[in-house]
Amino acid sequence: MNNPVMFTDPSGMIAVIPPGMGSWGWQGPGLTPWIRNIINAASRVRTATTSSQPQTDTDGGGAASPIVFLDPGHGGSDTGASRWLIRAPSLPAPFISISSSSSVVFEKDINLDVALRVRDILQANGVIVPMSRITDVNISPADRARLANESGADLFVSIHHNSSNPFRSGTLVLYPLAERHGSRSAASRVFATNINNMVSANTGLRDLGVQEGNFIVLNQTNMPAIITETGFMGGDLMFLANPDNRQEIAESIAEGILYTLFGN
Ligand SMILES: [Zn+2]
Repeated sequence: MNNPVMFTDPSGMIAVIPPGMGSWGWQGPGLTPWIRNIINAASRVRTATTSSQPQTDTDGGGAASPIVFLDPGHGGSDTGASRWLIRAPSLPAPFISISSSSSVVFEKDINLDVALRVRDILQANGVIVPMSRITDVNISPADRARLANESGADLFVSIHHNSSNPFRSGTLVLYPLAERHGSRSAASRVFATNINNMVSANTGLRDLGVQEGNFIVLNQTNMPAIITETGFMGGDLMFLANPDNRQEIAESIAEGILYTLFGN
C-alpha cells in the first residue's frame, strides 16, 4: 500500500500503519532511531538458557511438574509487524511516548508482554516455564525449537499477533502439518483448539479457528506445538494496545494450557 492506513477507536486513539509496510513488518529508514523497547521485563524474569530451574521437578514425592515452553515471537532487529499509535496526551502503559503524542508498537513487544503474563499465571499454577527469550533479542526459529526440545517441555507455545493483513480481525491458532507430523499434529490440533476456544470466548475476538502451519518452530519441535495469533496487528491493534486486554488474552491462553495439561 502507498498510503498510511488509520484506525480509530471510541477512546480517540489513532493507529497509523506506515506507508510501504510489507506484510511482515516495516523497518523503513528514519524509524529505527525511534525504536525503543516498549517492555523491559528483564529484571523480573529468567530464561530457559540461563535458568537454574530443574527441567523436571517434584512436589515432595508427587507427580513431576509439567513443563510448558513459551516462545515470544520475533525480537531484536526482527520486530514483527510495526504500527504507529498516536494519541494525546500519552499512551497507556507500557507504551513509551516517543514524542508527546505518539509511539511505535511492534509485534515483538506485544508478544513478549503477553508471554510474560502467561508465564506468571502458569508458574502460579505449578508449571515450569522455560522461555526462548525474556528480553528484546532475536533468536532463530531453529534455536527456538532446539531450546524447547532441550527443555523437555510437554507443550510448546509460540506467541504471535497476526501481521498477515492490516485490515482483518480475529484470533487463530496454528498447529503442525498433519501429513508430516501425524499424531503430534493431532495432539497439537486439540491443544490449539483448547487455546483458541478460550481466547475467542473470553476476549470476544472473532474466532477464525485453528489451521495447519508450515513453520520451523512447529516442524522442528518434538512435543505438541502451536503458534497463537490472538488478534491482528491491524484490525485488533486498539484492542491489543490495552494492557487489560493483553492480560485477558494471557489468562485465556494460560487457561487453555492448564486445561490441556490437567483437564477441567
Ligand atoms: Zn509474528
